[in-house]
Order: sequence, then structure tokens, then C-alpha cells
Amino acid sequence: MKSPLRSRYDVVIVGGGPAGLAAALGARQAGVEHILIVDREIEAGGILNQCIHSGFGLHYFKEELTGPEYAERFIRNVQSDQVEILTDSYVLDISPALQLEIISGGYGHLQLQAQSVVLAMGCRERTRGSIRTPGFRPAGVMTAGLAQKMVNMHGVLPGRRIAILGSGDIGLIMARRLSLEGCDVTGVYELQPHCSGLTRNQVQCLDDFGIPLHLSATVAFIHGRDRVERLTIAPVNHELIPDLSRSWDVACDTLLLSIGLIPENELSTRLRLRMDPATGGPQVTSNLETSLPGVFACGNVLHVHDLVDFVSEESLRAGRFAGEVAIGMRRPSDNISLQAGENIASCVPQSLSPDREQIIYLRVKRPLKNCVLTIGDRYEKSFRMLVPAEMIRLTLAPELLDRYFGEMLKIDVRLREAT
Ligand SMILES: Cc1cc2nc3c(=O)[nH]c(=O)nc-3n(C[C@H](O)[C@H](O)[C@H](O)COP(=O)(O)OP(=O)(O)OC[C@H]3O[C@@H](n4cnc5c(N)ncnc54)[C@H](O)[C@@H]3O)c2cc1C
Repeated sequence: MKSPLRSRYDVVIVGGGPAGLAAALGARQAGVEHILIVDREIEAGGILNQCIHSGFGLHYFKEELTGPEYAERFIRNVQSDQVEILTDSYVLDISPALQLEIISGGYGHLQLQAQSVVLAMGCRERTRGSIRTPGFRPAGVMTAGLAQKMVNMHGVLPGRRIAILGSGDIGLIMARRLSLEGCDVTGVYELQPHCSGLTRNQVQCLDDFGIPLHLSATVAFIHGRDRVERLTIAPVNHELIPDLSRSWDVACDTLLLSIGLIPENELSTRLRLRMDPATGGPQVTSNLETSLPGVFACGNVLHVHDLVDFVSEESLRAGRFAGEVAIGMRRPSDNISLQAGENIASCVPQSLSPDREQIIYLRVKRPLKNCVLTIGDRYEKSFRMLVPAEMIRLTLAPELLDRYFGEMLKIDVRLREAT
């Protein structure tokens, strides 16, 4: 017998991945009573359920876990905290007055009222359509994450001879997984002159298995009418244009795409939240609150993370702030705007408050060696190596921000290669 749902909740969280689960724990820490997580899948855990490899939790739990193990720890805590989890249920819409419209396998059409909402919908993979690869449209072209779900959750191989376009982490992990499953992985082809996945994944998934990584190269044509038969691979010039005069063919029956992730922000755009084109997610304050008061965002829907540990840390805070707002507690508004400067691709949050310690996440535009990161005129930190694949996490003490108080000063984040 299903327990009846309430019509009003203090905090409703959209998405039951690691972000949504941690946000629920954060909301509970704030002291709110009624918390609901809604997820469209049949069980909570998000993308972690298909990530059966180890490498999760090194920062957060100080031990190496698989994705499902990491998710299980949070699900247990959420359950023992009496948080309600509504699975097999899709959030169709959220009104500016925070009424959620949900279509649920168990309950049918639902409308619920929330005091505050946390967006934790994660992200999805870019497909062939988004890069318009020339060629035929045979079977055997799919995203690396779909192949991961097929192999790890359904025990089905996507093919036998595999090529991978893009060196994102999912592609690297699938190169290793498919080698272990007995497939022949011909190589990984990356448009940029550098690998876009984590260095540890490049070493552990490609180098350790002897899988070649071809940088500054792309798939210029897909051959095969019913099934992929071969690919034409071409090197690209500095403008990323393929040079067909130097192309070569690779025989394979499957092409996996690992060409980037897009935050799932359909609900956010329908809510007309102010978005940040650099992250693909909503703009947020240091409380992780979006431009609509009472709506918070965290995890991959806010900006793509490479480590789940940072997702959990950020989402605990988002849930706590959402909980505080639900019980009528408001922290002072931010009065310092944070702007990505030279060599910085993105920064989150987009504004800061000097009333407490601040955590900011940054990504660089290109690999940089021996560089100095500066924030305003009072913060400097040296790095030996920075790469776009690895998010930078910084904590800023209130004393550092104090002098900017009340001035609405822009903080510029810049990177300069040391001379
Ligand atoms: C293939 C892969 C490998 C990875 N490997 C590692 C690793 O080795 N180590 C590591 O630390 N990190 C790794 N990561 C990163 C980490 O797993 C992610 O950063 C993390 O899962 C993001 O959490 P999330 O909750 O934001 O998103 P997700 O895990 O994607 O969860 C989002 C949830 O929201 C639900 N949802 C979306 N829209 C709606 C809606 N409208 N209504 C209801 N539900 C909705 C989805 O069904 C999903 O369950 C990996 C990620 C991927 C994709």
C-alpha cells in the first residue's frame, strides 16, 4: 500500500542523483520537516547506478567506492532521515509560485506546493546531431553513457570493434570497460590538442590498456548503410577544420560519442531563470539560489562536475540554504559580483557575500603551466598545472572579501602564465 503524498512540502528536490540526495540531507540539517525527492527513474542514485567502476568518494568518504556504493550510502542516510522519495515520477513543470506538476507511475498526475525547490536534474550527453558528423546513418553510433548503461545494467555489448570520438571521462571509462569485456577498442579520437577527461582516467583507462589517444583528430565520415563499417579519421588544423588530404580509415562496427555533457535545464528555462552561457546552468548566488527566490540549483544541472564528491558538498549546502528559506530564515544578499576573467572559462557562484567563508568553483579555458590565479588585488595562488578537465575549488575567507563589502565590486578571476 503506497503511503499518501502530502499536497504541500517545505522543500521539494527535483532529481534523486547524488545532488538531490545530498540536498535532502542539507535541508534536514536546516531543520525542515517535510522533504520530498522526485526522480523519473525507478530508483534513486542518478547516473551513479550505471557507474560500476571504482573511483568515487576519495575526497568525501576518504575511501574508494563504486558509483552504486557511493549512492547507497546517501540513500541510506536519506531514508533514515525520513525524507520521502517519489520515483518513476517526472516533474513536468514548476510555476513561479513553486507549484510542481508531476506525472507519476504510481500516483498519476500530481500537483504539489513547495516552500522552496532544489533543482538537481543532472545533465545529458551531446549526440551526433549536435556536432553534425558527415556520413551515413547506420546503427552502431551511440553515446558512451548509453553504451555504459547497456553493458553495466543490461549485460549487452554495443559492438565488437569500437572507436570512440571525444576524450571525455565517460568515453575513457568505456574504453577500459569494453576492453575488459573482450572488445577491440581501436582508439580514442579527440578534436582538441589535449585530453578532455581527468588525467587519472587517461592513465588508468587508456595508457594502462594500450589504447591509443589521437589528439587534434576527428571523425570526418561514417561509412556503412545498415551498420557502421568504417570511419574516416582526419587530423584537424588550429581552426579545428579537418584536413582530408591526411585522413585515414579505421574499420569498426561501433562509434561511441563522448563529446560533452549538457545540463538538463528545460525546467529552468521554462521558469525563466537567469542562465550562465559559460556553464549552461542557472546563475546562482553564494547561497546557490537562482534568480527566482526560493529556487536553488546544485550538481550537474548547475555546472558539469568531474568528481561526485564536489557534487555532494555543493548540494548539501544548496539543500541547507533551501531549508532555511522554507522556514523563513534569509541570509543577507550578496553584494560582490564574480566575473570570469582572463583564461577562466566559468565560475560558480556568480556572486559572493563577505558574511562567511565562500567556496567557488572554476574551470580554465586551456591547459596552463606554472600560472598564478588572482582574485581582485588581494588573493593569489600558484599552480604548476591547470587543465580544463579538472575543476578548481577555492575557499575564500571573509577577511579577504571584507574590504569589498557594500561596494558591489566586481572580482576578476585571472590566470597568467608566470614568465
Ligand atoms: C559516466 C560517468 C562516469 C563518472 N565517473 C566518475 C568517477 O569515476 N568519479 C567521480 O567522482 N565522479 C564521476 N562522475 C561524475 C558524477 O557521477 C556526476 O558528477 C554526478 O553523478 C552528478 O550528480 P547529479 O545528481 O547532479 O546528476 P545525476 O546523477 O545525473 O542525477 C540527476 C537525476 O535527476 C533525474 N531527473 C532529471 N530530470 C528530471 C525531471 N524532470 N523529473 C524527475 N527527475 C529528473 C534523473 O533521472 C537523475 O536520476 C561520472 C559521471 C558520469 C556520467
